[in-house]
Amino acid sequence: MLIVQKYGGTSVANVDRIKAVAKRVVKTAKEGHKVAVVVSAMAGETDKLINLAHQVSSAPREREMDLMLSSGERVTCALTAIAIEELGHKAMAFTGRQMGIITDDVHTKAKIEKIAGERAKKALDEGYIIVVAGFQGITEGGSDVTTLGRGGSDLSAVAIASALNADLCEIYTDVDGVYTTDPNIVPEARKLNKISYEEMLELASLGAKVLQTRSVEFAMKYEVPVVVRSSFNDNQGTLVTKEDKDMEKVVVSGVAYDKNQAKITVMGVPDKPGIAARLFKGIADAGIVVDMIVQNVSSDGKAADISFTVPRTDTKKTLKLTEGIAKELGAKGVDMKEDIAKISIVGVGMRTHSGVASQMFETLAKHSVNIIMISTSEIKVSCIIDAKYTELAVRVLHDAFGLAQGKV
Ligand code: ADP
Ligand code: ASP
Ligand code: MG
Repeated sequence: MLIVQKYGGTSVANVDRIKAVAKRVVKTAKEGHKVAVVVSAMAGETDKLINLAHQVSSAPREREMDLMLSSGERVTCALTAIAIEELGHKAMAFTGRQMGIITDDVHTKAKIEKIAGERAKKALDEGYIIVVAGFQGITEGGSDVTTLGRGGSDLSAVAIASALNADLCEIYTDVDGVYTTDPNIVPEARKLNKISYEEMLELASLGAKVLQTRSVEFAMKYEVPVVVRSSFNDNQGTLVTKEDKDMEKVVVSGVAYDKNQAKITVMGVPDKPGIAARLFKGIADAGIVVDMIVQNVSSDGKAADISFTVPRTDTKKTLKLTEGIAKELGAKGVDMKEDIAKISIVGVGMRTHSGVASQMFETLAKHSVNIIMISTSEIKVSCIIDAKYTELAVRVLHDAFGLAQGKV
């Protein structure tokens, strides 16, 4: 088999961890498999680099950020290859450029366009274990280095698995699989043996950072079999795969939370056609992704309040832009709230079961958690609540839907 193994930040956090990773990789190779390894930077390294740049400038240029951020993964990929050689196996390290990972030129959140990988394929055929730096690529023609967005090494791994036609893509992290909710918040959370691509995609995009959202999108599109496992033990992990009949029987399979949210409200906008279009076109043109939107028209029907949420990292930019548009539209004012969180329940079984949303609202009400905004889709319900109730809400919902260990 050809296996891609991706090791996240905590799995390569120091020299001892890198040596442990090398051992696991060599063991896999000795079992008769070809192995392509993808590594993240050491835990905390990317944050440290971002912080350095912000000490120099409040708005560092993204091209230069990418050049700097790509250095973390360069260190770990070279060190891992050296550690594998030290164990007596041939290994070769590759940067994104050497792997031929071509992306678009949207710095700090580039999309992979293709992976050439000729040299890496040759090395694999010659018996080398290859070790690729995750999270990075180059623009067509190779003039610039790009990065793939936070958590992007997951995407590197899935895309490399697809390009090499690998039989399996293993994501090694600090938990031994995908749980019904973040096991670091709810110790009773239960590990799932398997989860559908759709559910994993919702959980990831709603805040469960165990897999990066775009990596799941990519895996689903190209049907890459992904297993999430721990690099700290040999426990069986979670298979992310196509939906099957059994999965529909479970109504809610997970609870996710996202504290990286901000709510902006435009108050007293005239209630006439074209207002929402003007507001949200302005925001979209600035590359800001709006999540939930709620509009309330006043009882006299003359004015409306429009509230929407954006990632907290975009709050400042959005607020400035919205204030300009609000003035132009003749709105009464703009308000902003950052101490909010989005709590979501996810499950493919929701398609065929009713009453899930109301059970969620009742559970939150019973614990006096006020709901600020609501949004639903076929397989999820999300509520915006006060950030201080995040952990409480996750725990009580996890319990209300019977997700804890021993309950199913
Ligand atoms: P890595 O550095 O290996 O990429 P991450 O920190 O990005 O690891 O992702 C692993 C973390 O994801 C876990 O430590 C856990 O706190 C968090 N997490 C959130 N939701 C879930 C979930 N449903 N199942 C498992 N882990 C989750
Ligand atoms: N090092 C990058 C980050 O911290 C990419 C990754 O770890 O996947 O976001
Ligand atoms: Mg990660």
